[in-house]
Amino acid sequence: MTYLPQILFCTLLLLAGYSFYTRFRSITKVIRLGRDEHLNDQSGKRWKNVMMLALGQKKMFKYPLVAFFHLIIYVGFIIINVELLEIVLDGALGTHRLFLPFLGEWYAVLINAFEVLALGVLVVCIIFLTRRYVLAIWRFRHSDLNGWPSKDAAIILVAEIVLMGLFLFMNAADTLLQEWNYSPYTEHLTGNFFVSSWLHPLLQKCDPVTVVLIERVSWWLHIAGILLFLNYLSRSKHLHIILAFPNAYFARLTSVGKMSNMPDVQREVMYAFQPELATGESSPAPLKFGAADITDLSWKNLLDAYSCTECGRCSAACPATQTGKKLSPRRIMMATRDRCEEVGALLQEGKKFDEGKTLLHDYITEEELRACTTCNACVEECPVSISPLDIILQMRRYLIMEKSAAPQEWTMMFGNVENNFAPWKFSPEQRADWTKTI
Ligand code: SF4
Ligand code: SF4
Repeated sequence: MTYLPQILFCTLLLLAGYSFYTRFRSITKVIRLGRDEHLNDQSGKRWKNVMMLALGQKKMFKYPLVAFFHLIIYVGFIIINVELLEIVLDGALGTHRLFLPFLGEWYAVLINAFEVLALGVLVVCIIFLTRRYVLAIWRFRHSDLNGWPSKDAAIILVAEIVLMGLFLFMNAADTLLQEWNYSPYTEHLTGNFFVSSWLHPLLQKCDPVTVVLIERVSWWLHIAGILLFLNYLSRSKHLHIILAFPNAYFARLTSVGKMSNMPDVQREVMYAFQPELATGESSPAPLKFGAADITDLSWKNLLDAYSCTECGRCSAACPATQTGKKLSPRRIMMATRDRCEEVGALLQEGKKFDEGKTLLHDYITEEELRACTTCNACVEECPVSISPLDIILQMRRYLIMEKSAAPQEWTMMFGNVENNFAPWKFSPEQRADWTKTI
């Protein structure tokens, strides 16, 4: 009977670990459906990207105040979870504050530092909730976030507030019971915890048995909440907390303005314009030009979709979104992830996902794709090295090269380029005629 809490705790830990593992396996499976793309070169530059973009959050600092708040949440949440190690060991071994005898006086210093961070996280979460739902800045009230995505952000912020609150209540109840010489808490004298001691006046109104109950319930809810949070996180936009790191490592190192050409198509164009430069062997024709579904995109595009934070900085900078066009680069990433999720669910059930639906048309429309000016502002703005433009270009390539689906004006221009080697309707022989009118 005395082992019951430990058995319960280990069961909870195993269930949460298994659920997290299966979720990650499913995501990896979907990402692997993407086309090959070799992004393993120049490891030095790649690690620098991880340090600067993911760990250092360099791009966030374009807006220093928001970046500072974001850093508090990020650092606070990660560092406080170091304390999770003690909680997990306490839960599994049936001990209480296991690290106290090893750390001595440093234990109180450490927990006090965690409490300051916990308070910081709590305050910033309230600020972010206010900014998102009361001040309602443009990119958070845009229709991209209608429905679930809007609730998702609130759930995570509220969950963080609750988790930090439980952490502080757990410590406050513990130190108060120590002050009251209540056994067995007197066996683990931690010293004062300054932030959580502000809660003592609230708890002092209760009798010791109730305070023990508050301490135990806070402890259990805190750990259960973290395990639940970890599993929820892997199903929400907050997956970026983890995926921002591999996404920064595998970021494309070429200039953001560089578009990927198809060498064989480029060679044909060269023959027409500068035959002397058109060299090299032609390779076998690809099975498909461009992308219609997630399996035609590269694995990096799919990793991008899972790493998107839905922050909307791309859409706030996009000239198409800002002039009221249907295109929003954030929605392109969200739609790609939704399709990935649908395919992942079908694979989980052992079903084929070739059910007639595709990313193009069922999730992203031609109108959205055509509104893009290819200005690259979305790529430049993204704090986690995502390129919505790359997906847009690949789908456009599919529409033009596989389906000949282009507006009439474009078709005329393509015909002119093909026949006259210029976008205009004049033949090459007439090209210099304008000089005769001078
Ligand atoms: S590249 Fe296209 S999607 Fe990106 S900001 Fe420019 S117009 Fe918008
Ligand atoms: S693509 Fe980048 S900038 Fe756009 S919403 Fe996602 S994370 Fe934010």
